[in-house]
Amino acid sequence: MSKPPFNELNLAAHVGDDPGHVNANLATVSGLLGLPRNRVVTMGAVHGARIGFVSEPGHVEGVDALISTSSGLVLTALGADCATIALSGPGVIGVVHCGWRGLAADVVGSTVAQMQSVSSGPLEAVVGPAICGKCYPVLPARILELVSAVSPRVSVAAVTSSRDGQPSIDIRAGICERLSELGVRMHVVGGCTVEDEALFSFRRDSVTGRQGMVIAFGAADGQE
Ligand SMILES: [Zn+2]
Repeated sequence: MSKPPFNELNLAAHVGDDPGHVNANLATVSGLLGLPRNRVVTMGAVHGARIGFVSEPGHVEGVDALISTSSGLVLTALGADCATIALSGPGVIGVVHCGWRGLAADVVGSTVAQMQSVSSGPLEAVVGPAICGKCYPVLPARILELVSAVSPRVSVAAVTSSRDGQPSIDIRAGICERLSELGVRMHVVGGCTVEDEALFSFRRDSVTGRQGMVIAFGAADGQE
């Protein structure tokens, strides 16, 4: 078990926690979900749109999405304010890490397109907790960057106002609109990472653990 502030099953190896503890936490979570630890795939996300198409367990650095058609693999994504998304369709599973940069880079659209190219049926998504628009004021330049990159529908959904009246981004609303545009049915789980003390939040705590989104073949859906 990790020591504070990682003592709630932190799954991130890059936030200063002991790697042995992170590994043990991952084994604990796998065990709780009834999934094999030795089939887990993790990723080192970089707020981009590169996708790792994986057929073996292990770690993939520099990608913000994982896709697999290999039965038995367990795909994981981590986030603490950024959203995590699990996707599934006939014969394919995927996970995505997506903050505002990922939304602008359309990591969601790229992942859905790649999954659709190898799947015969409709995709479904589970969208995990994220920082909400009320808690996420940003500089106007960031708003302009996002608006210039995404569709009008997505920008209308994602651009909002913070609690103190500043321009802000609702990452999850943008993701849900993008998934809707793409015809992906979705389920939204969890609330705002900043407001809900039970969730990890980088903005609130700086040094912290990360939420984990896990999906595997055979599971009914992505599980948080
Ligand atoms: Zn909030």
